[in-house]
Amino acid sequence: MSKVLIIGAGGVSSVAVHKMAMNNAIFTDIHLASRTKAKCDAIAQSVKSRTGVDISTYEIDAEEVPALTRLIKQIQPKLVVNLALPYQDLPIMDACLEAGVNYLDTANYEPKDEAKFEYSWQWAYQEKFREKGLMALLGSGFDPGVTSVFAMWLKKHKLETIRQLDILDCNGGDHGQAFATNFNPEINIREVTAPARHWANGEWVETPALTIRQQFEFDEVGQKNMYLMYHEELESLSKFLPELERARFWMTFGDEYIKHLTVLQNVGMTGIEPITYQGKDIIPLQFLAAVLPKPETLGETTKGKTNIGDIATGDARDGSGEKTFYIYNICDHEDANAETGNQAVSYTTGVPAMVGAAMMLTGKWAGEGVFNMEQFDPDPFLEMLGNNGLPWQVKELAGPLEF
Ligand code: NDP
Repeated sequence: MSKVLIIGAGGVSSVAVHKMAMNNAIFTDIHLASRTKAKCDAIAQSVKSRTGVDISTYEIDAEEVPALTRLIKQIQPKLVVNLALPYQDLPIMDACLEAGVNYLDTANYEPKDEAKFEYSWQWAYQEKFREKGLMALLGSGFDPGVTSVFAMWLKKHKLETIRQLDILDCNGGDHGQAFATNFNPEINIREVTAPARHWANGEWVETPALTIRQQFEFDEVGQKNMYLMYHEELESLSKFLPELERARFWMTFGDEYIKHLTVLQNVGMTGIEPITYQGKDIIPLQFLAAVLPKPETLGETTKGKTNIGDIATGDARDGSGEKTFYIYNICDHEDANAETGNQAVSYTTGVPAMVGAAMMLTGKWAGEGVFNMEQFDPDPFLEMLGNNGLPWQVKELAGPLEF
């Protein structure tokens, strides 16, 4: 039915491309381009051996807008799925506008020289996409992505209002390495070392990074320490759920991860200001990322499960007063790897990227302009997500989190 072009060939892209090939009634013609063509070819080879589907591959630097525009015009896809890095969001959106093609991504734009991510830069493209009759869907991963759709599902089916929301991201996986990140190390460390921020009574409250810690018992994972963090869906949720009195995001980290990160930070290895080394300017964090294990190599060794979901409190739709619901997905690292050759963090991002793309290509989610996940019907998205390896469950809790 539709031709699609995916940009980027890391772990998330690998999962999304495998899953598109498994849904080849929707994704009839799949093209994959990235900075290193060999990585595209490796994904194409794995997809061919697992599904029998052929993928066309290309080399492209997505920051070269004229070259990317030429490639998009040559392929003429219905949709460009951006699974490169947040730095490439704006150039890829520019090329899509120039070539007249719809756009999807999984992470919001972040300038290279400033560890700051927010939707403002991409929301500013609203009129440009609308005028051209094109659609851009932002943040169709798990978090951001499914966590927003989960909130909207609770709002549609269970709660009239959501006054309190906690998003809990637990990775109970063990990759057997002293220190490694489960997605792009540079982006991951920029996110984790940024100050924490949560939404409280109409304003942002900022606290130093990794200072507020709580314990939580995660289903099928066990008790874990989780830390208050800022995460990009808090920005779109506070916009699309104006009744929110409090919204927080928590992520689990093991003691070893925190110990290594603290040392790396203390010695300056996580900095993003260039330093001169042997006459050459280098960015310490980029150098660190180059020596850390590549996330796409962790699939073979990672054991355990992820558990990511939302706890929401508000007035019940059935008039029974204040209620709290917990909606979450559990994903097994080894199962994810057996199916696509990638661990669960790439899997839980790549599957919703495929589902978001399917929503756009089938017209179940449609519009002109720039959209967030909260703006569409959660039902068809969650139905397809559940049928494609990420089933979810809903529980009623006695009340909101006590901390
Ligand atoms: P990886 O680093 O594994 O892959 C990124 C890919 O993008 C690499 O193949 C890289 O090429 C390619 N790339 C980088 N720069 C360019 C460029 N200028 N032109 C073309 N290609 C380029 O990242 P992940 O797969 O882990 O993550 C992909 C995206 O998913 C990121 O934006 C990340 O933030 C997002 N993400 C979202 C999550 C969510 O739940 N919403 C969770 C996890 C990740 P090369 O191989 O040459 O370096």
